[in-house]
Amino acid sequence: MIDSIKNISINECNDARTLYLYLYLNNGKDLETVSNKLLETGNLRYIHFLLRSFEIEEYEKYLNFIIENCDAPSYLYNILYDVDYLDDEARIKIINKIFELNDNRYIVKAVYYFFNVLKKHNIDIFNRVKGLLEDYLKVEVNEDSFASVLDKIIYQEDYEIDYPGFSNNCFKGRNGHIPNMIVCHINNTYGAAIKRFYDETSEVSAHYVIRRDGHVKQVISLDDSAWANGTSLNEESDIYYKFAKSSIISNIIDNANYYTFSIEHESFDGSLTNEQIAATVGVMKDIIKYLKDKYNYDFIIDCDHIIGHSDVNPIVRTKCPGKEFPFGTIINELKNNN
Ligand SMILES: [Zn+2]
Repeated sequence: MIDSIKNISINECNDARTLYLYLYLNNGKDLETVSNKLLETGNLRYIHFLLRSFEIEEYEKYLNFIIENCDAPSYLYNILYDVDYLDDEARIKIINKIFELNDNRYIVKAVYYFFNVLKKHNIDIFNRVKGLLEDYLKVEVNEDSFASVLDKIIYQEDYEIDYPGFSNNCFKGRNGHIPNMIVCHINNTYGAAIKRFYDETSEVSAHYVIRRDGHVKQVISLDDSAWANGTSLNEESDIYYKFAKSSIISNIIDNANYYTFSIEHESFDGSLTNEQIAATVGVMKDIIKYLKDKYNYDFIIDCDHIIGHSDVNPIVRTKCPGKEFPFGTIINELKNNN
């Protein structure tokens, strides 16, 4: 399948997924021609994938098409969040569209991302959000307190949430594998992650969620397979196992959830607090000890076995856990302490 798409005659192809995969598998060959064909298909999903996978110089026409044709605030937020090279004008355009859609949760998320993560400023956005925050929090908000008010509203509100016991979002057991890899993820906020992982309709979970203050919540037993790093044996799927960047994963003909552990971190860009790094190292030590006790297996501490979600599912997850994720620090600490 991969070879046939790589060598397809693009002039005769009008299928958005095939066009995107052609670019992806050929590292951007014929970028301009294929991007234009992809835009003609009008397929938002793969136009979005195109934008975030390749730094497209004249990205305005692609972005404008998405902004005009998309009415889902969560989707627009994802464009803002994972297309890294947009200029501020383009970012503000996306934020204004999210404003138009009146979804307060995504308005605050988008504004938080722009002001607090990217460290940008825009007076019009500040003025629009100021009123919203004041109505909601019943406190006065000014330029000096803006960042900390956003911070508070984004993170701390949901810290009260707790669920007893483990979630049912898992496969029981390991389908005959000895799990031998740890996959790191980010999810913007702890509260949103926990809610989804205990919601049986979401069909997602991770073994652990680690908050910015270092608090650790275990969601799934290490004996079971969480639903975070799924790969598919179906070549029509965007999580087809042969797409994996990890050569270990692209050579195992089974769902990667069965032989991996997953750790979710509260973060927007992959950077972790010191408390989070210490907690992550602690959790990984627990996993290493568990493998020794249960399977008499020595976990291999290196960057082939401690990887990111984007190494498992590079087509659908480009920014998990993000460029800032401190793999080197974590691996060094584990090696020095083991
Ligand atoms: Zn992930």
